[in-house]
Parts: sequence; C-alpha cells; structure tokens
Amino acid sequence: MFAHPPLLVAHFIRARWRAAYLRGDALARYQERRARRIVAYASARAPFYRAHWAGHDLARWRELPTVDKELMMRHFETFNTRGVPREAAMAVALQAEQSRDFQSAVSGLTVGLSAVTSGHRGLFLASPEEQAGWAGTILARTLHGFQGRLRVAFFLRSNSNLYERIGGLLIQFRYFDLMLPHAEAVAALNTFQPHIVVGPPSLLGFLAESRARGALRIAPTRLVSVAEVLEPQDRQRLEAIFAVPVHQIYQCTEGLLAVSCARGALHMQEDLVVLQCEPLPGGDDDRVTPIVSDLWRRTQPILRYRLNDVLRLDAAPCPCGSGFRVVHTIEGRCDDVCYFNDLAGGRRPFYPDTIRRMVLLASPDIADYQAVQERAGQLRVHLEALDGAPFDVVAGAVRASVMATVARYDCRAPEVVVERGLAPIAPGAKRRRVRRLSE
Ligand SMILES: [Zn+2]
Repeated sequence: MFAHPPLLVAHFIRARWRAAYLRGDALARYQERRARRIVAYASARAPFYRAHWAGHDLARWRELPTVDKELMMRHFETFNTRGVPREAAMAVALQAEQSRDFQSAVSGLTVGLSAVTSGHRGLFLASPEEQAGWAGTILARTLHGFQGRLRVAFFLRSNSNLYERIGGLLIQFRYFDLMLPHAEAVAALNTFQPHIVVGPPSLLGFLAESRARGALRIAPTRLVSVAEVLEPQDRQRLEAIFAVPVHQIYQCTEGLLAVSCARGALHMQEDLVVLQCEPLPGGDDDRVTPIVSDLWRRTQPILRYRLNDVLRLDAAPCPCGSGFRVVHTIEGRCDDVCYFNDLAGGRRPFYPDTIRRMVLLASPDIADYQAVQERAGQLRVHLEALDGAPFDVVAGAVRASVMATVARYDCRAPEVVVERGLAPIAPGAKRRRVRRLSE
C-alpha cells in the first residue's frame, strides 16, 4: 500500500490546478518563489552546493554555476542533503538491479540508477514524500479526462519501487520488466488488456509487430513513449498499427521534464522544473540544450544541472490552453552530435535528426538503421532493408545520400561504411540510433 495516499491526492489536485492557471507573470513569480526557497535549502543542507556557490548572490539563482552528472557523482555524499555515501547507495541500487527486486532502500530513501548510456551512471535518492508528490503529479498530468476504470501497463528497465505503489481502485498499474522475454510480455498483455501502454519506443515497436502478426490482441486507447528518442517514423508506424495517438513523457532520473497534453503537444512541466535553454555551441539554428532546476526536490537538489540533451522548442502556444512551453522534438544527446570536416579546415556539427534524415530519406526500403561515428568525418551505417528489397541498391542509395547531404553543408567527402544488419543492443540498454563514440 502506498505510504502517503493523502499526500498523493493533494499533489494530484494541486498539479491539476497549476497546469490550468499558472501562465505568464504568475508562472514566473511562482518559479521565482520556489527556486529561491529550494536554493536556500540546498545551500544550508548540501555542503557541495554551499561550496560550489560560494561568493555568488543566491538571489540571482539563474546565473549560479552549473553542475552536471560527473560533478554530482564525484561529490555525491555532500550533493545530497542526507549525507548518504555514494558507495552505500550504489550497493543498494546494483543489488536491486541484479535481483530485480526494487523494494530496498538506504536510510529510508529509494535509490534510482540511470540507464547505461555513456560514462557515469547517475544515482538518485528520493524520500517517501517526494515519491508521493511525484506519483500524484504524474497522474494529474498524464490522465487526460477520465474514462472510468483504467488499466495501465508500464514497461520499465527497473521500477525503482515507485509505480507499483500508486495503483488503487480506479487505476490498476502493472509493471513489466523490460528484460521479460517478448513472448511472455505478449501473453501477459493479452490477459491484462491495458488501456494505456507505457514503454520505450523500441519496445512499443516490437509490440506493434506482434499486433500486426495477430499475436498481440489488445486495444489500448493510448500509447506513451518514454526513455528513448521517439523518431517520427516510429511514431507514424505505431499510430498506424494501433490506430491510437502516441504521447510522450520526457522524464529522466533528473526529474519530470515534459508530458504530452490531450492534444499531443509535449509541454515542459514548468511548475516542477525550470528549463533554461541554451543554444548549442557551433549550432546556427533553433536547437537548444536545457539546464534543469528542479523546484521540488530536497533530498538530492537538482539545481542548474546541465542535461546534455538536444531539443527543439515550439514557439506557437498550444490550443489546449496550457501556458507551459512546448517541446517540438527531443533529438537525442549532445554527445551524439556528429562532426564532418568543412572546406575551411574546421568541423561542422550534424545533429542526430539530420543524420536520421540523411539515412531514412535515401530509400523507402529501409526497415531500420543505426548510425555510428567513430571519428570526425566518418560514418558507419547499419541497415536493415525491408523484405525483398535488394540490399546493395538500398546501401548505395544511403551512401549517396550521406555524401550529398554532407557536401551540401560545404564539408569534405566523408568516409561512409554501410553494413548489413543492426548491431546488437545490450539487454536493458537504451536504444540510441545515432551515436558518436567519444574520441
Ligand atoms: Zn497542449
């Protein structure tokens, strides 16, 4: 049973209210008030932040020195306000991951461990009150309208002890481990008959295949994509096969950042987090990378945290009436921006979405792809052609498209290798179709 049902309900109601009424100056004042309070708290209780901000005016919190995952992990014990050592939290998190039993806690706090992408894995602590707040808020933001009893299937790498607890009479949650063999997942879904299926797009894609084959027999009213980049071609295919909208939750262990509204627009959760969006270095377009300040978290304050994602924002307000800004696309990670050498001797950034387009627009016969850059000026493309399509023709078209796109940006001819078949993805790892290996 959930530890704080009244707290959950209170957060649910308050989150609904804020989404409906906070906009413009009122939203700015709200953010300012909460940010000042949380900055003062972090400065008093987290020795790392106190030292990191020494000599700065805390009232000008939008200009305080930034932090990132590397700094957070290096100073973990003084970065959190409960003095939990990194080793103790990591031991609990790894043990939970191996046993697939996510009930364990350290000092009464739930521990989360971010997925393997590159470099450090992030460790996150949450108190029972923070969990209740999170649960109430995410329900308020993701349940649009109300259609009676709801069954929700969650596919997650780990459930970190959160989702199972928020079920109740009207909403039934079932957690599915992403490591579950696909055939078992299909059988369990056929029995459960969910109204909403939440999972990474790679998993939803597999479910779409099963449904197209007739093995999966469910009729959800909505799919929700989490944890990985939802590319437009994936979205189209999912919407075509299931004949329902695909919404998104942009959440990472650093916080709940954006959620799709009933109209399908991905709204930043501006009453929960402040996203300061900076232009990308060397970029000459509307792509930005966010610096996150969480307005609520006290156990492990996330303030002026560089997120390392590439986003495009939508300038137009959403017809749903929400005053929260809209994220047009989440393209991927800054680490996955690829570089090609320009004619003037410099390097030019090519964003993950540009790489995706140069591959996919080359031929209608591509079933799936991965692009890996091992060094600047080079690209290795793994391709899966549709059944019956001649691979050599598809591969030739992809090579020509990459060469032509790179040339159009005044760059030297790249070294392009096209390989048949996708590279295997480690179990439980996130799918990243465009990847740059660090040099
Ligand atoms: Zn909207």
